[in-house]
Amino acid sequence: MSASADLWAILVAAGSGARFGGPKHEADLDGEPLWVHAERVLRSSGLEDVVVVGDLPGGVAGGPRRRDSVARGLAEVPDDVEFVLVHDAARPLASPALVGRVVDRLRVGDAAGVVPAVPVRDTLKDTADDVVIGSVDRSSLVAVQTPQGFVTAVLRRAHDVGEDDATDDAMLLEAIGERVVTVPGDPANLKITYPEDLVLARLLRSSGHG
Ligand code: C5P
Repeated sequence: MSASADLWAILVAAGSGARFGGPKHEADLDGEPLWVHAERVLRSSGLEDVVVVGDLPGGVAGGPRRRDSVARGLAEVPDDVEFVLVHDAARPLASPALVGRVVDRLRVGDAAGVVPAVPVRDTLKDTADDVVIGSVDRSSLVAVQTPQGFVTAVLRRAHDVGEDDATDDAMLLEAIGERVVTVPGDPANLKITYPEDLVLARLLRSSGHG
C-alpha cells in the first residue's frame, strides 16, 4: 500500500474506560501508552494523515460515546478525501499487513465499508440473567475488529442518520443499508478491555506481534 492523500485515518482515544478502570488508551504497554502503539501501526502502514481524537498532544476533543468521538474526528477530514480508516487506540497490536488488507479491499470499490473479521471460537448461548434460553448457531458469526475502512462520504451520511447505540462504525452503515464486507482479521489484534488483557498483549509483543 502506498501513502496517499485520498486516505486518512481517525484514531479514537477518548472515553472513560469504565470496564478498564480508567482511560485505557493511556495504559502502558512496554513503556508506551496504547494510543502511541496504535498510531504507529497506522503511520508505518503508510498513512500520513491521522486524526487522533482524545485529550492528548495534538488530539481533538472526544465525545461522550465512541461514535461521537469518531464524528469529531470525521469533522477534521477534508471533503475531498475519498477513504477513511477508523481505528481504536485500544487495539495496539494491529499489523501493517492487516491495515493493508482493509485498504486494498476498500479500493476494489464494490463496498462502502470493510471490516476485519475473525471466526467466533466459543460456543454461544442466548441467556436471560443466568438462565440459558438456547444456543446460537455460530457458523456464520464473526467477531469484528478495527481498523475499519469506509468511503468517507458514506461514513458521514451514516453518522448523520445511523443507530444511536452503535458500538462500531460498520453498524451505522448497516443501518442505512450500505454494503459492508469482511477481510480476514488477526486473532492477535486484541482489544484491550480489562487490565488483564495487557498481560496477554505483552506476551504477544514478546513473541513478535505488534
Ligand atoms: O470502550 P470501547 O472498548 O468500546 O472503546 C473502543 C475505543 O473507542 C477506544 O480506543 C476508546 O478510547 C474509544 N472511545 C472514544 N470515545 C468514547 C468512548 C470510547 O474515543 N467516548
